[in-house]
Amino acid sequence: MTLLSSTADQTDFGSRIELALAASNQLFNPRNAPRYVADVLQAVNLVATKVSRTSRPFTGCAPGQLSPLVAGVDLDRPLPDTAAALEELEGLYLQDAVYFHDPKYAAHLNCPVVIPALVGEAILSAVNSSLDTWDQSAGATLIERRLVDWTAGRLGLGAEADGVFTSGGTQSNLQALLIARNHAVERLRQDPAADAGWLPQALDRLRIFASEASHFSIAKSAALLGLGYDGVVPVRCDSERRMDPAALRQALADSRSRGEVPMAVVATAGTTDFGSIDPLDAAAELARQAGSWLHVDAAYGGGLLTSLRYRHLLDGISAADSVTVDYHKTFFQPVSSSAVLVRDRSTLRHVAFHADYLNPASAAREQIPNQVDKSLQTTRRFDALKLWLTLRIMGADGIGALLDGAIDLASRAGELLEQDPEFELASAPQLSTLVFRYRPEGVDAGTADALNLHIRRAVCASGEAMVAGTTVDGRHYLKFTLLNAETSVEELNAILEQIRAIGAGFLAGARA
Ligand SMILES: *Cc1c(COP(=O)(O)O)cnc(C)c1O
Repeated sequence: MTLLSSTADQTDFGSRIELALAASNQLFNPRNAPRYVADVLQAVNLVATKVSRTSRPFTGCAPGQLSPLVAGVDLDRPLPDTAAALEELEGLYLQDAVYFHDPKYAAHLNCPVVIPALVGEAILSAVNSSLDTWDQSAGATLIERRLVDWTAGRLGLGAEADGVFTSGGTQSNLQALLIARNHAVERLRQDPAADAGWLPQALDRLRIFASEASHFSIAKSAALLGLGYDGVVPVRCDSERRMDPAALRQALADSRSRGEVPMAVVATAGTTDFGSIDPLDAAAELARQAGSWLHVDAAYGGGLLTSLRYRHLLDGISAADSVTVDYHKTFFQPVSSSAVLVRDRSTLRHVAFHADYLNPASAAREQIPNQVDKSLQTTRRFDALKLWLTLRIMGADGIGALLDGAIDLASRAGELLEQDPEFELASAPQLSTLVFRYRPEGVDAGTADALNLHIRRAVCASGEAMVAGTTVDGRHYLKFTLLNAETSVEELNAILEQIRAIGAGFLAGARA
C-alpha cells in the first residue's frame, strides 16, 4: 500500500478492485453457477414470452428506424444488470426481429428450429468445447465423427467416407472444391506432358461445370480458389430448372477440345430458387467419363435423407465424390450447422496442415483425433451437438416428417396458384419452394416486373408476411420458401390475398 501516494490513486485503486470483483462474478464457474441459471432463464423466458406474443413474422421496421437506436447505445457505459440489458435488447432487436417460426414467414431457406437443438445450443456454448483438437473437445470430437458417419451412411458414400462439420453450405462447397482442385492439380502433375509444375498455369486450365441454377457460392469458390469466376462453365437447364445432361455432355466436350481440364462437375440437389434436383445418375456418369470430380450441393435437399416419402429424390447421390449438407436448412437446426462429406477420407489430406503448437504431425501418427486436420476452420463450435440431441430426442423420422409436411404444403400451394388466373407459376414445385408472379390478364411484361417488385417490398414492409423475390429469365418473380409444416393452406391463401390486394392497388394507381 506504500505505493499509493494520493487520495486520487486510492479511489482509483478501490474502484479497480470493485470492478474486478464485479467482473469475476460474471465468469462462468462453480461459484457463479446459480447466476448462470438465473440469467439464462431470464433470457429464455424473454424469448419465450416474445414468441408467444408475436402474431406476424416482422414489424416491417426499416433500417433507418432502427439504426439510430442501436447507434445511440453507449458501449462504454454498461447497464446495472442483466435484466436492464435484456430490456434494452428487447427494443433494439427482439421487437423487430424477423421470426422464422411464424407460419407466414415464407421467404428464404430459414427453418423453424426444433427444441432439442436449442437444448444442445445451451450446452455447447456453456461448455464451449472447440472442435479443432482432441485436447480441446474430447467426447465432442467423437460425437461429431459419429454424425459425419451417420450422414455419410445415409448418403451411401461407402466405408471410406469421412467429412467434417462446417459453418454453412458456402464453406462446405468451398472446402469440397478446394479438395477437388488439389486432386486435379495432383493428377495433372503426374503427367509430365501436362506442364503443370507452376500452379497458376495449372489453375488456368481447370474448369468447374455447374448448372445455371447453381448457388452463387460455387462461382465464389472458383474465384477464391484461383480459377476466377470464368472458371465456372454454366450448364443449361431444362424447363424444370434441372441441369440438362445433353448440355453437360456438350459443355464437357467443348471444354476438352479447348485443352481445358474438367476439375469438377457440381450437381445441385435442391436449387435455392426452384428446389430442382439435377439428374444425379447422369451427372455422375458424365463426370466419370470425363475423369472429373463429382460434387453434389445438397445444402437444401440434404434433409431428404430423413424423409419418409421423398428420399428417392436423392437416388444417385451415393456416386458423389463430395457432398454438401446444410443441417440449418432442412434438418430444422439453428444457424450454424452444415457438413461436407467425402467418399474417400484420404482426400481430406488436401486441407491438412500441421502446426507444432496445435496438431503436430506426430499426433496424427499416434492417431489422436484432431478434427482441425480435416477443416478449413481452427477454433470451431460444437454445432454437431444440436443434431445429436435432435436425433436422440425426436429421431431422424421426426425430422423427415417435418420436411415431408413442408413439401406437401408446397405442392398444395402450387395447386392454388395453378388454378388462379391472376397468378403465374414459373414451374411446378419440386421441393418446398414456389416461384410465381401476380400478373392479371392484360398486364405487359414491363409492368409485371414493376408490379412484382412493388408487391415484394410492400408485403415485407407490412410485416404481415415475408416472401422472397427472384428473377426468372430476367423477369421479376415472387418466391415462397416453405419449411414450416405447421403453416396451413388458409394461411398461404391469406398471403396470396394480400399479394392480390397490394397488386390490384398498384395497378389501379398506375392506371390513374
Ligand atoms: C443455402 C445454399 C447454399 C449456401 O449455404 P449457406 O449455409 O447459406 O452458406 C449453397 N447451396 C445451395 C443450393 C443453397 O441453397
